[in-house]
Amino acid sequence: MSTQYIYSFNEGNKNMAAKLGGKGANLAEMTQLGLPVPAGFTITTDACIRYLNKDQQLWDSLKEDIKHHIQLVEQDLGKEFASVSNPLLFSVRSGAAISMPGMMDTVLNLGLNDETVKGLALSTNNERFALDSYRRFIQMFGDVVKGVSSDKFEKALETVKKEANATEDSELHINHLNTLIDEYKKIYENEVGCPFPTDPFDQLFQTVESIFKSWNNERARIYRNLHDIPHDLGTAVNVQSMVYGNMGDTSGTGVAFTRNPATGENDLYGEYLINAQGEDVVAGVRTPKDIHGLKEQMPDLYDEFKHIATKLETHYKNMQDIEFTIENGRLFILQTRNGKRTAQAAINIAVDMYDEKLISKEEALMLVDPHTLIQLLHPTFDEKVLENVPVLAKGLAASPGAVSGKIYFHSEDSVVASESGEKVIIVRQVTSPEDLAGMVAAEGILTAQGGMTSHAAVVSRGMGKCCVAGASQLLIDDELKTMRIGNRTFYEGDVISLDGSTGCVYEGALPCVEPTFTGKFKQFMDWVDEVRTLGVRANADTPKDTAAALNFGADGVGLCRTEHMFFNDERITAVREMILAHSLEERETALAKLLPFQEEDFYGMFLELDDLPITIRLLDPPLHEFLPHTEEETMQLAKHLGKSTDEVRDRMITLHEVNPMLGHRGCRLAVTYPEIYRMQTRAIIQAAIRAQAKGIDVKPEIMIPLVMDVKELKYVKDHVIAEAEMVLSEQNKEVEYHVGAMIEVPRAALLSNEIAEESDFFSFGTNDLSQMTFGFSRDDAGKFLAEYEEKGIIERSPFGAIDEHGVGELLQMSINRARSTKADLKCGICGEDGGDPASIAFFDKIGYTYVSCSPFRIPVARLAAAQSAVTNKNHN
Ligand code: ADP
Ligand code: MG
Ligand code: MG
Repeated sequence: MSTQYIYSFNEGNKNMAAKLGGKGANLAEMTQLGLPVPAGFTITTDACIRYLNKDQQLWDSLKEDIKHHIQLVEQDLGKEFASVSNPLLFSVRSGAAISMPGMMDTVLNLGLNDETVKGLALSTNNERFALDSYRRFIQMFGDVVKGVSSDKFEKALETVKKEANATEDSELHINHLNTLIDEYKKIYENEVGCPFPTDPFDQLFQTVESIFKSWNNERARIYRNLHDIPHDLGTAVNVQSMVYGNMGDTSGTGVAFTRNPATGENDLYGEYLINAQGEDVVAGVRTPKDIHGLKEQMPDLYDEFKHIATKLETHYKNMQDIEFTIENGRLFILQTRNGKRTAQAAINIAVDMYDEKLISKEEALMLVDPHTLIQLLHPTFDEKVLENVPVLAKGLAASPGAVSGKIYFHSEDSVVASESGEKVIIVRQVTSPEDLAGMVAAEGILTAQGGMTSHAAVVSRGMGKCCVAGASQLLIDDELKTMRIGNRTFYEGDVISLDGSTGCVYEGALPCVEPTFTGKFKQFMDWVDEVRTLGVRANADTPKDTAAALNFGADGVGLCRTEHMFFNDERITAVREMILAHSLEERETALAKLLPFQEEDFYGMFLELDDLPITIRLLDPPLHEFLPHTEEETMQLAKHLGKSTDEVRDRMITLHEVNPMLGHRGCRLAVTYPEIYRMQTRAIIQAAIRAQAKGIDVKPEIMIPLVMDVKELKYVKDHVIAEAEMVLSEQNKEVEYHVGAMIEVPRAALLSNEIAEESDFFSFGTNDLSQMTFGFSRDDAGKFLAEYEEKGIIERSPFGAIDEHGVGELLQMSINRARSTKADLKCGICGEDGGDPASIAFFDKIGYTYVSCSPFRIPVARLAAAQSAVTNKNHN
């Protein structure tokens, strides 16, 4: 059977987004629901891929197929494409499976030329409208399909408006519009080098081709790289009959969310414009009206829209972002999709929808993107301070957060400043996809123009960045790079503060306060913990980090890196003394100085943790990492130790390694110097005894890093246990402790069945394990990994997200082998990927007991684990 490249709207449904794109699939679904959707059809993503892979030409049978589907629409509507009496016009809209900025913009009113425009005027009895549509079409086709700068058209428009003494486009009369159309055609011909295409079919085919091509434009590629979206999905093209919002005062167009996308409040939220076409609302050229205004202006239509909005929300079980157009008092729905929202709104909506009995608890959990939770963990401005700080300007609270930073006016400048370590706020009149790089680099976004659905607002919410939009007091001079507010002028590099939750802008930097976790957030996270089966622990090295992690809901500490306690003035000297020691005796003297410090640290962490478990990794890095870096430091150290500088230098030379990451580190240190691990064990057990005396049920898990063989593990472990038992018998106490292996060398993964015999638990150090499995040095891979991604050899860096295909296979095999020895061996993850939602789903699936990640990622990981539990349940 040959591939079906075109689907009429009444053939598809919402589950066909891969083929029809998100927009097309939802247009089909809404058509099936019986909603007023203008008729049309979708050319599939398969057609796009075929076009791009072959000779980049529309093939004849596809063209025939398009013509056939046009006929179907013609029959449906009783109009004819290219007709000079009653012409059918099309809107041609791109739409990939995942909504993506950077794809080609929509072309409206396609099918007009000098002849068909007369037909449109006659059939609608509205010549002004027909001409207005025509001039819009020439501009859009020129700008969107042929890349003619829209400034050129805007300038011509301004000139004609001035001549006509008109302030609004809608005040232009027929003769002005005729002049404008002639001007536009001239601009087109000058810029493109050939006359404006008059054949409607030619117009359509050219537009379809441009959409296909736009899949590979630079902006789209950047976005896909940023969001790990594959490059071979392709975009669909929707060809839809036009409905006209620009036919007069009973026509218009708008956008509305079924709930407030910033706060989650259950009330229609949106904007509309009378006598306008769709892109006018989002472009921020005219300032739109609040959707509630429609209630007075067109009460019946408002009710109908409200009814449809509720119907869509109930049907999709999700907050919807809906585009509509009113043609002579008739409502048409042009698009629906799940609305982008802030993390705050996402949580409130999920909890509210559950309370409204629209969705189940599991469905509620799936409504929040784990990545966005980070937004809620960040500080807000201190309200007490705000009371005494004047508001410099006020715009819309477009995306929450609190940022103080230096202002930059251009995307490139923002990128440069951010690369040199500045905290950047990008200030623009309005943003467009061209500003994307600057917005990615910035911490905050401020615009002078545009509403809650403007580009700046939508993109910021998507990226979880603070944004204040439409602060109309701002007078921005793009060229001079200044911003005037009242009589004040701000220059590039000046510091301001943005509050994206209130829309306020302040001068200078402001202090922040930590967030609290109450209300719906707490309710939601309680559900998360009810549902998830995977444990979530924190990587924490200090009592302070531990407290933060517990505040974020950690189940314990999964990785405490003891050496992080060594880098502090007093201690580092003792560490260096230990490293430079010549004899066991000297070493033990130095270690004895470290013991009380380590004991105090562990004790502090035990107190914070209360009854929760902690995995403590014994010393891991190569010793030379602790040695002085400068000549001066070396001399000082020698003096302090009462040794000669030469002697210290000689010892440092001996310690030098060619390849330290694969050198004398991890448990290899303890094979040479067991007394180091003995001191650490003593510190842990002594601290545990003290914590126990406070009524805490301590559960230290002592972890031996970089194990590669069971005999090696046994040798080191025997020392650890001997020391622990010695402490316990000295004090005549009992403490429940465990000793386990860190699995991060491929050989250990292979021999997991043997290593499990000597281990109470396994913890997988996926950073080192990925590094050694790939043979890529994490510190050097940056130099060549981009090349691999660019050339499609690997999809993304294996550091940060687990490589399921390769390293994942090793993990699965290791767990299986280990559990063939000990059926219920506890297995954890303590690499960077322990906080990555996709990796967490994988770890959960292959049987891990817990993941461990940095404190700020704890809520993200908890939600990812809960979503994984829901997904696994649905699959079983
Ligand atoms: P985007 O993906 O940027 O939202 P759309 O394809 O939704 O692009 O088109 C942008 C605007 O064009 C919409 O807001 C809508 O008002 C208008 N539009 C799209 N299709 C039609 C149509 N068939 N009739 C009238 N206006 C349309
Ligand atoms: Mg749209
Ligand atoms: Mg390691």
